[in-house]
Amino acid sequence: MVKYNHYNTQFTPKLCWVGETQKICYDTREEAEVAAKVAQYDHGAPELTVYKCEYGDHWHLSSKTA
Ligand SMILES: [Zn+2]
Repeated sequence: MVKYNHYNTQFTPKLCWVGETQKICYDTREEAEVAAKVAQYDHGAPELTVYKCEYGDHWHLSSKTA
């Protein structure tokens, strides 16, 4: 089950181990897409892909520079 940190009002993203790295979890696809756009604006990040996590009911961003 997904654990929600309702008691924590600060923006503390949930993290999920994917392979050898920790990725930020997004509850919805829309939320992840917004975060991807922000990252691209703020950091000039390469195009980011939103995909559903295979380990839980949430979404992650993945850069295409693999
Ligand atoms: Zn995950």
